[in-house]
Amino acid sequence: MSILEKFGYEEAKIKEITKNQKICGELEALLGQVPGGSALDKTQRALVHSFATLIVKKASKEVPTALVVENIVNGNLKTNLQVEAAFNYVSGASEVTQEALASEAGIGVHVGEEDVRRKVVEYIEANKASIEEQRYKLVPGIMADVKKLPELKWAEPRLFKPIIDEEILKVLGPKDERDVVKKQPKSKKKNDAANAKKNTDAGDAPKRTMFTEGFLGDLHKVGENPQAYPELMAEHLKATGGKVQTRFPPEPNGYLHIGHSKAIMVNFGYAKYHNGVCYLRFDDTNPEAEAPEYFESIQRMVAWLGFKPWKVTYSSDYFDELYQLAEALIKCGKGYVCHCTAEEIKRSRGIKEDGTPGGERHACKHRDQSVEQNLEEFRAMRDGKYKPGEATLRMKQDLTSPSPQMWDLIAYRVLNAPHPRTGTKWKIYPTYDFTHCLVDSFENITHSLCTTEFYLSRESYEWLCDQVHVFRPAQREYGRLNITGTVLSKRKIAKLVDEHFVRGWDDPRLFTLEAIRRRGVPPGAILSFINTLGVTTSTTNIQVVRFESAIRKYLEDSTPRLMMILDPIEVVVDNLEDDFEEVVSIPYRAGTKEFGDRTVPFTNKFYIERSDFSESTEDKEFFRLTPNQSVGLIKVPYTVSFKSVEKDSDGNITKIHVKYDNDDKPKKPRTYIQWVPVSKKVDSPIRISETRVYNQLFKSENPSAHPDGYLKDINPESEVVFKNSVIEHNFHHVIENSPWVVDSVKKSEFYVEEDKDSKEVCRFQAMRVGYFTLDKESTKDKIVLNRIVSLKDSTK
Ligand code: ATP
Ligand code: MG
Repeated sequence: MSILEKFGYEEAKIKEITKNQKICGELEALLGQVPGGSALDKTQRALVHSFATLIVKKASKEVPTALVVENIVNGNLKTNLQVEAAFNYVSGASEVTQEALASEAGIGVHVGEEDVRRKVVEYIEANKASIEEQRYKLVPGIMADVKKLPELKWAEPRLFKPIIDEEILKVLGPKDERDVVKKQPKSKKKNDAANAKKNTDAGDAPKRTMFTEGFLGDLHKVGENPQAYPELMAEHLKATGGKVQTRFPPEPNGYLHIGHSKAIMVNFGYAKYHNGVCYLRFDDTNPEAEAPEYFESIQRMVAWLGFKPWKVTYSSDYFDELYQLAEALIKCGKGYVCHCTAEEIKRSRGIKEDGTPGGERHACKHRDQSVEQNLEEFRAMRDGKYKPGEATLRMKQDLTSPSPQMWDLIAYRVLNAPHPRTGTKWKIYPTYDFTHCLVDSFENITHSLCTTEFYLSRESYEWLCDQVHVFRPAQREYGRLNITGTVLSKRKIAKLVDEHFVRGWDDPRLFTLEAIRRRGVPPGAILSFINTLGVTTSTTNIQVVRFESAIRKYLEDSTPRLMMILDPIEVVVDNLEDDFEEVVSIPYRAGTKEFGDRTVPFTNKFYIERSDFSESTEDKEFFRLTPNQSVGLIKVPYTVSFKSVEKDSDGNITKIHVKYDNDDKPKKPRTYIQWVPVSKKVDSPIRISETRVYNQLFKSENPSAHPDGYLKDINPESEVVFKNSVIEHNFHHVIENSPWVVDSVKKSEFYVEEDKDSKEVCRFQAMRVGYFTLDKESTKDKIVLNRIVSLKDSTK
């Protein structure tokens, strides 16, 4: 194994690095200096690589490197800018010291959001006249200038843009016609012009979204899809007024999953973007598989994702019309009643006895029956003369066609089952192939959007509309969204539920939409995520971790923070009295003024995380409390240092005694940890009955490929429950005012307003622990929390 592999450089990166032998050699030498050869994370690897590149490209003499490498490895040097400054320092200095390096490379300098904002405001104030004159055109220049200010040298680059945008908005107000950029990018579609207004800041080119790019951006305009009978188009346009009409057509035979959220967004979103309408149509032609809870759940999920159906319809609403068209098909000589068995039909469609396709196809003896006989037989089917399997209505298509969708598809079958909506009225039911295109036509669908497995159906779809002489909507196919590392099939989830591997169809570890909602994922996060994936004709396979990291990013900006201790241990401060109280003020989210601050009393008893204390003093990487290392408590002025521990008879620590270091100048600790005080005054702590920490349900990326079946791939740690967690008293305030949404998120394109009374909107970040929300089982007396996601991706 090469040294680069050993330190975790990815294959592609190694390829790139080894192209330049000099840099590669230098990099390997630097890696040789990593103390203890310890592993590097991705940022560290990149920084060492930049350092090597600087040395090769810029150094004129030998450079002392060890100290820089050390500071990269211990996290002191965090950015390329710092590494460059470190390089400049060490390549010029006659003797290198840690102090000088720290001051040159800005180690430990913290330039926060407030500092950046202060400077931005000063700058805007000083240049107000020209900003007011040139308005938004000046923004890039402001950014460049402010970044160059020496005081902001070490500020994180990502801080600048949002702050400048916000402050400029305060001075100039929203963009208006004065800010129109003259050169408008040519828009492909004329009817986009109307939307450009609605969907963008005034004057800008349309924002690039999944609706303007790729598959959806390239769809035909209303009225442009060809017809066999052009006069039908005129009627269609009259009926729709030329607006986009789509439909989301789930079969009510199961709960929706993450893949369906793409279908929902494609159909509802496309219509909305074009000021059109979208039907929610239940494709209920298979009464045997349908159940009321699915109808309800599907409607709930569509609403949860922020969409409102124009109308809710059912394929079964059209059973009469469909029946009439079936007779019409027979009358025009294109439908026949077939009495072949399922096996015989397969054989006539070229499926060989061993089940493989490609055999010879042939017409059966029923294909040439007279129209009268077919009509009579079909009515007999309708009237209950035949049992299931004894007769079907088939389309008389083209057995010589290369497409299986043209080999005399079945249009109607006898089911003799009651239907949830039509009761016992029908004993025959139309198939998907017969129903879908015709109902699309009845509903004047302008874009019938479905997934690519229906690609071949397009031909039979158009064929049938043409035979019965109805408007032919345009079916277009996009790629499915799949998520790996889990199972989505109804049958497989049912087994997990029935055998109690999970708590139900909405168990937060599953990827049904009910589960994702219960877990606390905001609907806006799903929409934004799908938008970033875009829509094309290929299948999108997403790893669970990628989905989670998108949620994490979304929550980062939009949740208040609280201090919570998952696995608490009590700490007693020996040198403080019982009535000691020092109230500290902590922002609900630093940098988010609208969230405000909260106060927490610091008292002589509090809880910390059991894992934030170590009796051993060996581990140099352990920055928290140890017998010889004091630790900071978030926002508390002084550190606390260790005095003693109390243990039970099994040797478990039950209490830690510490000293509050307020007799000295405040020391800067190596790190700060969260704490939850014991205080009668504010009724702290609040005890959490159950904190459910979820991990991935399966161990592998492809559970279904497990040789002993996917159930054997279940991760035994997929749910870890803590029963003693405590949380600061501000929890109640957070819950009562949930959901907390930052203004910038509210304004964002894919934000979805949620039901304030739902439990899952009570999201917060438990500082240093993760994102959590209330579970649906939570009550006033028994608080139950779900972890939405961890703070960091643990697999990296
Ligand atoms: P599944 O077999 O996974 O249950 P389905 O195709 O049977 O899905 P339907 O209820 O028929 O589910 O789906 C309604 C709509 O959602 C259809 O237009 C279908 O193409 C679409 N859809 C289903 N699964 C996905 C997916 N993974 N990605 C995108 N769209 C999907
Ligand atoms: Mg289906």
